[in-house]
Amino acid sequence: MLPTLTPILSDKELFQLMALIRPSHKVVICGHRSPDGDALGSALGWAEYLKNLGKYVTIVMPNPFPDFLYWLPGSKQVVFHSLHNERACKAFAEADLIFCLDFNAISRLQDMADLVRKARATRVIIDHHLNPEAEMADMVISRPQMCSTSEIILRLIDALGAYEDLSHAGATALYTGMMTDTGGFTYASSNPEIYLLISMLLSKGIDKDKIYRNVFYSFSENRLRLMGYILHEKLQFYENHKASLFTMTRAEMKEFHFIRGDAEGLVNLPLQVRGMRLSISLREDTEKDVVRVSLRSVDDFPCNKMAEQFFNGGGHLNASGGELPFPLEEAVKTAEAAIQAYKDLL
Ligand code: 5GP
Ligand code: MN
Repeated sequence: MLPTLTPILSDKELFQLMALIRPSHKVVICGHRSPDGDALGSALGWAEYLKNLGKYVTIVMPNPFPDFLYWLPGSKQVVFHSLHNERACKAFAEADLIFCLDFNAISRLQDMADLVRKARATRVIIDHHLNPEAEMADMVISRPQMCSTSEIILRLIDALGAYEDLSHAGATALYTGMMTDTGGFTYASSNPEIYLLISMLLSKGIDKDKIYRNVFYSFSENRLRLMGYILHEKLQFYENHKASLFTMTRAEMKEFHFIRGDAEGLVNLPLQVRGMRLSISLREDTEKDVVRVSLRSVDDFPCNKMAEQFFNGGGHLNASGGELPFPLEEAVKTAEAAIQAYKDLL
């Protein structure tokens, strides 16, 4: 039998959500720091739905997203707290309703967290990470089994009877979110219902091949050479090629004219080696004196546990992140200790 869509909300939850949306006029949608394709895609898709209801919607992100997402329709209207501080503060202060999309803890907003904590608005979390900070919100729509927040948003739009009104631009944004959070549907994407949802988006006339190229094949020569350099010069293997680690310094980023987004996907590459279970990247942050940590794994290796235990972070089973507040050489020692501590699971 062909699959059908499982309802995303109970009737009671649908009623609760509508009861929060209906009386509100000014709505803010926010996503996590260093927004990715899913944070942005889900925000744009949800913003379209709310605008169609006549709401005044502002999308506010803590800082800019990677350059390879700027082609997304509507992305230029996003307000960045790090750049447009006054506009961001005003939007939060005036909001009746705040949607927190694609993050489970207010702390992931970093410098913007207090604006959300102190806002008088009602708060709703819509997310697919484990363990949402429920006490921070008036309603929590947490669906860790879903591939992306964009998937949740599409299901919500459908459940709210608004699929017919979803535009080509909205469908493009939601497809981008689903595609980026699954590495082009290569992980976290075996639920057959995902392909019903993709079919619904394709029915809106989106060009999925072009979206793929826009996102994954739009790097500069510098980024391609940075990739070659990292793989050739920096990548270290551990535990009989079951784990790997590479670092990237600010000086190296400067040498390769690094722009935001150029690090994206690099951490996945070592997993192409047969038998690899865990890949770690340590990168000096360009804005703050911290080392950004990215972890990727395959099968049942729990990146999120390692990220929580060693890297002040968290995330999904196979994709997690965090940061370390000390120099790169120290961070390497921490990462090596983490590999040692988890070697029985490798
Ligand atoms: P990335 O390696 O792409 O920065 O992050 C991968 C995933 O790890 C994200 O989708 C998110 O779920 C999680 N993640 C990244 N950074 C952090 C962090 O600082 N804290 C927590 N809790 N999760 C993070
Ligand atoms: Mn996501």
